[in-house]
Amino acid sequence: MSDEHERTAGGAILLDGNRLRDEIVVQLRDEIAALGSPKVCLATVLVGGDKPSQIYVRMKQRKAEEAGLAPRHVELPETATQAEVETAVQALVDDPDVHGILVQLPLPDGLDPEPVLARIPPAKDVDGLTERSMGRLVRGLPGHVPCTPLGVMRLMERYGIETAGKRAVVVGRSTLVGLPQVLLLGRKGVDATVTLAHSRTSDLVEVCREADIIVAAAGQARMITADHVKPGAAVLDVGVSRTEAGIVGDVDFDAVQAVAGAITPMPGGTGPMTIGCLLQNTLAAARMLGAV
Ligand code: NDP
Repeated sequence: MSDEHERTAGGAILLDGNRLRDEIVVQLRDEIAALGSPKVCLATVLVGGDKPSQIYVRMKQRKAEEAGLAPRHVELPETATQAEVETAVQALVDDPDVHGILVQLPLPDGLDPEPVLARIPPAKDVDGLTERSMGRLVRGLPGHVPCTPLGVMRLMERYGIETAGKRAVVVGRSTLVGLPQVLLLGRKGVDATVTLAHSRTSDLVEVCREADIIVAAAGQARMITADHVKPGAAVLDVGVSRTEAGIVGDVDFDAVQAVAGAITPMPGGTGPMTIGCLLQNTLAAARMLGAV
């Protein structure tokens, strides 16, 4: 599809996450129909009334339906106890009709996500965030890969961004995004040479300017400026910050698109890909469980 890439005003290829997510939805729908339309169930668990979390979960449910999956939703009040949340998740773990489980994080203050996630077996852990899934990723064993960094990889594959022998910088070291992103970029077969930057990194501008690929996952509004970017580099923006000017990413899009070779829009880049990968992981979960 190289000739049909949409480009920014400055000529960078637009890494269109909405478009790729939509392609994934169609592929999944066809695949599930070809399997005889089995019920492949993604269960989401939402605790409390956090507005962004409600929106994310609703979007996941909607896209799951469009992809021909059978979503199920469990909602618990802000006042739910640790035991109540763990019991609700355990019920989904024990239910053979549920294939993928996603607990929307963060949980309300006072609840510990670790024992909740620990209940989810690797096959049903479609978010890829439990310690067993992370261990599998590190060890190169089969399992689910966290959806946001996986979405970044899929976008690069789809748009033909070369990784082998290239220098990549990941800004942010959380277990949700930055750390698994480093592992995925450095994997055999992907073969980037990866630097992990964080809030204590000195000379971030210099570090980023060496990179052919920048993945920004710090949650700092527009911190990656044109100065950080080597001409022609691919820049993938994971950050989401709520500012007075609305929701913005970690990348100063207007300035960076003029120097980058490829760039994700915000919104419409890595966010939709997170959902696309979640849906793909759910069908993979049903396969792992022998349900399809
Ligand atoms: P965390 O807050 O857990 O981690 C942020 C990381 O960024 C930390 O490692 C921190 O360093 C680093 N960091 C913070 N400030 C700077 C700075 N000025 N320079 C360099 N590094 C810095 O966030 P998450 O990883 O959970 O999320 C990152 C962002 O991605 C958030 O905005 C979040 O909303 C968004 N997000 C987007 C998703 C999507 O689908 N697009 C999905 C998930 C998250 P240190 O470790 O030193 O503190």
